Amino acid sequence: MTNYLIVGSGLFGAVFAHEVAKRGNKVTVIEKRNHLAGNIYTKEVDGIQVHQYGAHIFHTSDKKVWDYVQQFAEFNRYTNSPVANYYGKMYNLPFNMNTFSEMWGVRTPQEAMDKINEQRQEMAGKDPQNLEEQAISLIGRDIYEKLIKGYTEKQWGRKATELPAFIIKRLPVRLTYDNNYFNDDYQGIPKGGYTQIVEKMLDNENIEVKLNTDFFDKKDEYLKNFDKIVYTGMIDKFFDYKLGELEYRSLRFETEEKDVDNYQGNAVINYTDAETPYTRVIEHKHFEFGKGDKGKTIVTREYPANWKRGDEPYYPVNNERNNNLYKQYKGLAEKQNKVIFGGRLGQYKYYNMDQVIAEALRMSNSVE
Ligand code: FAD
Repeated sequence: MTNYLIVGSGLFGAVFAHEVAKRGNKVTVIEKRNHLAGNIYTKEVDGIQVHQYGAHIFHTSDKKVWDYVQQFAEFNRYTNSPVANYYGKMYNLPFNMNTFSEMWGVRTPQEAMDKINEQRQEMAGKDPQNLEEQAISLIGRDIYEKLIKGYTEKQWGRKATELPAFIIKRLPVRLTYDNNYFNDDYQGIPKGGYTQIVEKMLDNENIEVKLNTDFFDKKDEYLKNFDKIVYTGMIDKFFDYKLGELEYRSLRFETEEKDVDNYQGNAVINYTDAETPYTRVIEHKHFEFGKGDKGKTIVTREYPANWKRGDEPYYPVNNERNNNLYKQYKGLAEKQNKVIFGGRLGQYKYYNMDQVIAEALRMSNSVE
């Protein structure tokens, strides 16, 4: 029997805890926030499940992960189909026949391809040197300027001409009238929200959960008293930033209750112009097809933000500098034989939920 400490009650920590506790190990989960579930936390307000840390849509082509997660919640048939608002003109996403028809009045896939190829000519024979040139070479100026430029610049806090080309490797172009954002086999939102998934994972007599508990308040004591530690916080912080700081992007959420039944008609609207300071507006009730109190709705505006110590680190910035620095931290981590580093912050990797589950299952199966 191993005595585990799991630092962080996000999806990685919860899956790991669930798996090792099932096998009879003793598990203590500590969480510095005042609630479980990390960034997938949802909270009911006016009968609506509010995605407190940004819109979370579960999608995967991994049947094993999809079957696994069904144990903890029933999923609805939600299909992500965001809409872009560019100065009041609405365009369907991802780029598909609806978008092309709205943009250029084309009707057939051939007409759309001809138009895209004509637009791409601007970069013909040139090697894209930055994100702007890369996007134009892939899809042309009209789509780039209306649907990519402003959104991307807000997201990264930098001009598209100063961002590296590799950020956009491919731009999927769908020549059908299909607004489904994802190509995955399975997709949905858990009926009744995400928090229940983590609650059920941790509902085991071998698991003790302590909220409002920061690992760094008693790091040395924890390292001494537990057989194994699964750490899902920031890897650079674990080592007291001794090799330097990794960079993250942060977000600020502004949530508002409105006395209307239906505010924007869709769960996700992206604001793709440069002037509107937020990138997206989420209307949470549409994740569950309008479920919630009559005459009430909850909307959240998402503002991208620079990160500094003390802010929530939402996205790792996986550029060359940071990836190299992460490799050095990983080297240090491998020498800590008591500690397993997992999840989005512990592995400094942009994981979707399905990938975090797959990784936590893989890693928890390689220990006692
Ligand atoms: P986290 O959820 O961050 O959990 C880590 C936990 O550790 C946190 O609760 C934190 O408080 C705790 N912790 C950290 N340090 C300490 C410490 N020192 N002491 C104690 N506790 C600590 N994925 C999808 O599949 N679909 C989506 O639509 C999607 N949308 C997203 C939108 C946004 C805005 C963001 C940020 C992410 C999105 N994701 C999405 C990704 C998804 O959130 C992650 O895959 C998942 O939450 C990662 O789980 P985790 O356990 O690695 O990290």
